[in-house]
Amino acid sequence: MKKPAANPTEQKCPACNGTGFAVVTQPAQPNRKIYPPPCKECGGKGRITEAAN
Ligand SMILES: [Zn+2]
Repeated sequence: MKKPAANPTEQKCPACNGTGFAVVTQPAQPNRKIYPPPCKECGGKGRITEAAN
């Protein structure tokens, strides 16, 4: 039996890859860094809680 996570219903958000920020395309301008908006899927937490089906 595998050791369960602290909260098995909570897992890394696939939409943002656990970063909590939406994936944005950075412009090719080193001095213009875009601050990515919080991920809509997880609300910027980087984790999502699966609802019990
Ligand atoms: Zn997310």
